Amino acid sequence: MNDIQHNISSIKQRMERAAANSGRDPESVRLLLAVKTVAAEKITSAFAGKRLLLGENKVQELRQKYDYLSVIDAEFHFIGHLQTNKVKDVLKFADCIQSVDRISLMEKLDQRLQHEGRSADVMLQVNTSYEESKFGVSPERAIQLAREMSKYDTLRVKGLMTIGLFSAETEKVRQCFRLLKKLELQIKELGLPNFDLRELSMGMSHDFETAIEEGATIVRVGTAIFGDRIYPDSYYWNENKDVK
Ligand SMILES: *Cc1c(COP(=O)(O)O)cnc(C)c1O
Repeated sequence: MNDIQHNISSIKQRMERAAANSGRDPESVRLLLAVKTVAAEKITSAFAGKRLLLGENKVQELRQKYDYLSVIDAEFHFIGHLQTNKVKDVLKFADCIQSVDRISLMEKLDQRLQHEGRSADVMLQVNTSYEESKFGVSPERAIQLAREMSKYDTLRVKGLMTIGLFSAETEKVRQCFRLLKKLELQIKELGLPNFDLRELSMGMSHDFETAIEEGATIVRVGTAIFGDRIYPDSYYWNENKDVK
């Protein structure tokens, strides 16, 4: 077992413990490896014969690593801010786009998918921390945006995604995850067409256990597995922030 596989197995142990502590089935939570800036060779070394769930933030990085990663069995989720001019490429490589957060993007995705004659799995990203630096629809507008989203037959909405507040105060972070769970229940009640909510993608290296306690089905972990990144996260989250 190499270092990365070792890190993964200790994260998985912590995930199982968090699930068990909150009375949940450990099998109900998946680990997504957040691999932004991580070299393809390092990602393949994470592969221990079992299908990996990988998350990329930039379409260009996804495209660059994609061929190399075809040697391993992996499912790719797009978790970064998606610019409308990258829609065609992201649909080529991603199995699910977790970061859909505005109508202009839904329209572009729908146009492209209609052109290709198919549908795609997506999630709705909600900004539960209200931090300016983060993308996602505000919690107040989430229900309305979900209604709009349900009109696009090409978008199969599989879940909700959020980035929790960056804070050492666990209870404040927990409120973000609780809010996402609450929105999930409210949206489910509406019985919207094209909505089949089964995933709550929430929790990262520093807060995944709290997220699991609040119902996460996918936790997205990077640093705790691959080590520190050289770029600040703002490089991925603020860049070219466009109008929603
Ligand atoms: C980078 C990133 C993660 C993982 O963050 P870590 O703190 O490195 O675990 C999760 N989600 C998103 C959207 C990210 O950009």
